[in-house]
Amino acid sequence: MRLVLVGPPGAGKGTQAQFIAAQFAIPKISTGDIFRANVSQGTELGIAAKKFMDAGDLVPDEVTNAMVHDRLGEDDANDGFLLDGFPRNVPQAETLVDMLADLSVQLDVVLELVVDDEEVIRRLSGRRTCRSCGHIWHVDFDPPGRDGICDHCDGELFQRDDDKPDTVRHRLEVYAEQTAPLVAFYAEKGILVGIDATGPVDDVTERAIAALRPFE
Ligand code: ADP
Ligand code: ADP
Repeated sequence: MRLVLVGPPGAGKGTQAQFIAAQFAIPKISTGDIFRANVSQGTELGIAAKKFMDAGDLVPDEVTNAMVHDRLGEDDANDGFLLDGFPRNVPQAETLVDMLADLSVQLDVVLELVVDDEEVIRRLSGRRTCRSCGHIWHVDFDPPGRDGICDHCDGELFQRDDDKPDTVRHRLEVYAEQTAPLVAFYAEKGILVGIDATGPVDDVTERAIAALRPFE
């Protein structure tokens, strides 16, 4: 399955991506995770991306598209993939069409996680991420057993810089202006499926898997 997840920041894309990728045995490609890993390793790509990420803006398309192109060319993406966080605007979506055409494949389905703004703000303000394994927690909705420590790997949990309230507001504007038009873009192509992404994580996973099964 070749799948894209769309939804506002905080909709639960990263959380659901872990389960969906495991269920359908496809690699999860999260552009935000790749950028953050490069920032923490101080690579050239990380240095180029950091100022945009800190401001809550999109990293320029040139940089992002090149990174995704390289990642999709790796062997594990041959038979399918889940893209989380890419494309983020219509030009990126058009570039993705071309990249996949070069590989003689196309997207099967785009899953939209539907959540309102208030819920998104509640989710982002309590998000904590494990520095070691990347697992996503929430201080109220999905708390680890010990404050600040990952249950899976004992790693340290941190709050992302871009989850501070001012940056969150800006990221939601960027989503509305640049990313939300993708919903119509993919609906027109007839490959958009939307699910209600509110309620317990497990319920959302069940809805997602049921919605995706026909595309397996
Ligand atoms: P969230 O999970 O909250 O939606 P991500 O982890 O996907 O956020 O992205 C964090 C930041 O990384 C974005 O605000 C942006 O600066 C950058 N980024 C991630 N994916 C892309 C992309 N496809 N195009 C441009 N910038 C991106
Ligand atoms: P995204 O990748 O779309 O930005 P995340 O998967 O990082 O979103 O989730 C944002 C925050 O919301 C995290 O702290 C996560 O634990 C929490 N979360 C995810 N799904 C749910 C849910 N169904 N109910 C409550 N909180 C959730």
